[in-house]
Amino acid sequence: SNLPADPILENTRRQVTKACYSYVKPKQTSNPKLLHVSPEMLKELGLSENDAKRKQFLNIFTGNTVLENTNPYAMCYGGHQFGHWAGQLGDGRAINLFEIEHNNQNWKLQLKGAGETPYSRTADGLAVLRSSIREYLCSEAMHHLGVPTTRALSLALSGDQVLRDVMYNGNPEYEKGAIVCRVSPSFLRFGSFEIFAARNDTETLKTLVDYTIKTHFKHLFTSSDPGGTEESFRETEINKQTYVSFFNEVALRNLDMVIHWQRVGFTHGVMNTDNLSILGLTIDYGPYGWLEGYEPGWTPNTTDSQHKRYRFGAQPDIVHWNLYQLANALYPLIEEAEGLEAVLANYAIQKEAKYLQMMRSKIGLSTEEPKDANLIQELEDCLQLTETDMTIFFRNLANFDSATPTNGLQIIRESFYEIKTVTEAVKNRWNLWFDSYADRLQRDPISAKAKKENMNSVNPKYVLRNYMAQLAIDDANKGDYKLIDDLFNLLKQPYAEQPKHEKWFAKRPEWARHKVGCSM
Ligand code: AMP
Ligand code: MG
Ligand code: MG
Repeated sequence: SNLPADPILENTRRQVTKACYSYVKPKQTSNPKLLHVSPEMLKELGLSENDAKRKQFLNIFTGNTVLENTNPYAMCYGGHQFGHWAGQLGDGRAINLFEIEHNNQNWKLQLKGAGETPYSRTADGLAVLRSSIREYLCSEAMHHLGVPTTRALSLALSGDQVLRDVMYNGNPEYEKGAIVCRVSPSFLRFGSFEIFAARNDTETLKTLVDYTIKTHFKHLFTSSDPGGTEESFRETEINKQTYVSFFNEVALRNLDMVIHWQRVGFTHGVMNTDNLSILGLTIDYGPYGWLEGYEPGWTPNTTDSQHKRYRFGAQPDIVHWNLYQLANALYPLIEEAEGLEAVLANYAIQKEAKYLQMMRSKIGLSTEEPKDANLIQELEDCLQLTETDMTIFFRNLANFDSATPTNGLQIIRESFYEIKTVTEAVKNRWNLWFDSYADRLQRDPISAKAKKENMNSVNPKYVLRNYMAQLAIDDANKGDYKLIDDLFNLLKQPYAEQPKHEKWFAKRPEWARHKVGCSM
């Protein structure tokens, strides 16, 4: 049935049981203004740049107009936050408007920051400009980096003031309200399934899992009546093996996603189970940050600075932990642990293999040798001897010539934050590494030219460094939105040389050292 089981069609905050979503209406905004639209996303949706200039576009994507025959809704989900079950969370400030089908792709369009829902708990359902700029720029940048992600269509000011009591600058303050339209084939999260298992509501759990498989994982499912109707397709029972295959695919997709994160230096910051997508897409750009100095222990999330649960280096293991929670949630449909456990065990093996393969690609190896793992481990150790910029290091490493390993240090020099910390001992360690790297490259059949091209296609030159987003935010708060557009365009081609924009291929400036992103 398309109707939610909960009969209360109001936005009152409550526990919503036996339902996957609740109908809600976006809040009216007082003076909405479009700040940016993604041309690539428009195209995916079959919309033109002219469509985006119409008043109706602005009204729809700031919540002031609800299209006829559409029923906006907020989704119910729970989640494990920082390792603990947190009960019902849900779309507290996200409202799904409608779906668009174009080029055989189905997209859900959702407003983030468009007002309260039954899931808003103690918060206001709104979003501020700074967090919206961060989400908007980063989700499109991640797409262009080739990282699976939810997308963003538009960034708008609501014209309303939003009160925020955050550590941002000490005092509660009014800030500009903003709304991002996010786009994804699905916004289902691990927590969407966990909530029903936690409530022993196996019936709704099964309804949702079956819907998910039949909608998004069709290839895993064969109808008992292959030539049958839509109805017979919907009615065919899904067997236990298919549930396990579904779990396996969710595991592998999330593994693929997190390996991409490790490749580009993206640190999510809040990998709670409500922030992991069932499709393996990066979702929820809150306190995320980009690694500058290569520091596996780093997290951008100031609320996690004690335990650093979601630190960069732990991300692949956190996906594993989250998959355990999802396995527990699916268990009632399978009632056999073996299949689920095999998937989890395989994840651990694949994680090592995929990580190693990804790191090989970053250093330009086209073949495999058993000792590559040692070479890569030693590299990661060297990168931590002194603060060394990850992006600049890997980009410049493409210029390394295995015939002249003694030039190695010179080639990567620019990636060191403080040259005075590069002591003789540090230099010696690096030189030893360059020697082994040169030996290894000489045994690799790939040509120097192809090696460099390969490396430059996996090691981005431009990423959304935290201070870059901050500069765009500072300007925007003063009413200047140009930098949003500049960065948006820069980040469309992260692997290309863009000589005019060389200033963004630079280490973080000193003033930005302790500045981190903010999620609220
Ligand atoms: P997050 O840490 O961003 O994943 O958010 C965790 C939960 O808090 C989710 O259920 C969000 O919908 C909710 N939430 C975050 N910010 C707000 C807000 N301003 N108003 C209402 N709910 C919020
Ligand atoms: Mg979230
Ligand atoms: Mg968030």
